[in-house]
Amino acid sequence: MARYTGAVCKLCRREGKKLFLKGERCYTGKCALERRSYAPGQHGQSRKKPTEYGLQLRAKQQAKRYYGIPEKQFYKYFLMAERKQGVTGENLLQICESRLDNVVYLLGWANSRAEARQLVNHGHYKVNGKRVSIPSYLIKAGDEVAIADKSKESEKIKATIAAMGSKPVPQWLDRNDDTLTGKVLALPTREQIEVPVEEHLIVELYSK
Ligand code: SF4
Repeated sequence: MARYTGAVCKLCRREGKKLFLKGERCYTGKCALERRSYAPGQHGQSRKKPTEYGLQLRAKQQAKRYYGIPEKQFYKYFLMAERKQGVTGENLLQICESRLDNVVYLLGWANSRAEARQLVNHGHYKVNGKRVSIPSYLIKAGDEVAIADKSKESEKIKATIAAMGSKPVPQWLDRNDDTLTGKVLALPTREQIEVPVEEHLIVELYSK
């Protein structure tokens, strides 16, 4: 499936919740959802009670959109999550969280997950000393993520770090602002994952 290239604020309005797809703007009064808190389109303001399937579908769409993951890959993650020990829904979110683009965003080295994906694609980051340009690369506990030496001089990277670098990182990550490195202390628990979805609905949808 092709990646969505339309107006991302419409995705939040469609889901009726903030998915934080636009970086800093999401935290200001300019947020489109705060100004127009109804779904886009002609029937956006009509109220219909959602069906059980509708709720499950929306939960899946919200998670996919939050992380910017295409359907095929998201379903692949679900199958991986099922094979792992533990609660499938939590495993699924943990896999999504451990994508390199998400980790770069959480470390404050990109304004949004979409920007992180682009920067990873351009080869600006290393994992355990090796350059990795695959946004879906899954990091593991103990891995070290770093900004590549040449990229530390990039004006874009410098500006992003200046704007976002003071952002607190989640407990499962550790950032060193002097060396511009980040350490994955452990994979996140459900309590440490902020995605605003009920993951059991996604599991119910895919288990039909
Ligand atoms: Fe969503 Fe951010 Fe746009 Fe608000 S500003 S609607 S949170 S993408």
